Amino acid sequence: MSQEDRDEWGRVYQRVNKVCETAALHNIGVSIDAEETWITDPLDALTIIMMSTYNKGRIIVYNTLQMYRHDRLQFLIDSYDVAVEKDFILGSKLVRGAYMEKERRRAAEKGYPSPIQPDKESTDRDYNAGVKFCIDNISRVALMVASHNEYSNMYAADLLKERGLPLSHSYVHWSQLYGMSDNITFNLAKAGCSVSKYLPFGPIKDVISYLMRRAQENTSVKGQTSREMNLINTECARRKKAKE
Ligand SMILES: Cc1cc2nc3c(=O)[nH]c(=O)nc-3n(C[C@H](O)[C@H](O)[C@H](O)COP(=O)(O)OP(=O)(O)OC[C@H]3O[C@@H](n4cnc5c(N)ncnc54)[C@H](O)[C@@H]3O)c2cc1C
Repeated sequence: MSQEDRDEWGRVYQRVNKVCETAALHNIGVSIDAEETWITDPLDALTIIMMSTYNKGRIIVYNTLQMYRHDRLQFLIDSYDVAVEKDFILGSKLVRGAYMEKERRRAAEKGYPSPIQPDKESTDRDYNAGVKFCIDNISRVALMVASHNEYSNMYAADLLKERGLPLSHSYVHWSQLYGMSDNITFNLAKAGCSVSKYLPFGPIKDVISYLMRRAQENTSVKGQTSREMNLINTECARRKKAKE
């Protein structure tokens, strides 16, 4: 690493540390998003440092694990081992992953093996196995189910119930993107789960690339939008009928 890169990482460390320190002071959670694989390793390392500093006996910092990567279930287990060794609470926000086409395209262009699972079933299998691993180790792991997948959301709730744990357990949280899957968010909230909506915030010039990505990503989220539209149309028809 060049001196220039080292200086830049020093500055990134200072800024991220300031955010986590302030969050810890006010007892607010911080989740560090996961991006493309080629920038993830330093982010993972930085997040582990933050967790080992601020997650002592409580949950402040979450890392994000993209389960469409075939190596992330093992990474979750390895992170857990580090958390046990260094005695901190492991924050794990589980997502499926937003850059599937881009990752596959780059791997093909540059001639390295794709980091992405071979198919959707494998992603779903590892996602749900990750949820189970976190809940099996709930005394040491705080889980954020960040998904619009009905089965995965329900699976986390069912596992808690099976183990006699409350749906409002302070180490389990559910989150969906603002404007998506309100049917899931509202029903989880009604059942007593801790839920949130993920809301991009900032000047349009800073958030536009995020919004563009979300629109592009919808090509790998087949059927979800039409299912939501069907649910909304059914509910509108039900209310109209109830008024007549
Ligand atoms: C609160 C929140 C925070 C998020 N933060 C991040 C983040 O930090 N980083 C990030 O990358 N994403 C993030 N996402 C987006 C997330 O990764 C998913 O892209 C999105 O939520 C769709 O997955 P799903 O679990 O909701 O639903 P589903 O519709 O069940 O799954 C769709 C996903 O499955 C995977 N998939 C689809 N087809 C295949 C295939 N053929 N082979 C392998 N896998 C396939 C893709 O990941 C696709 O996005 C976030 C989502 C939420 C709700």
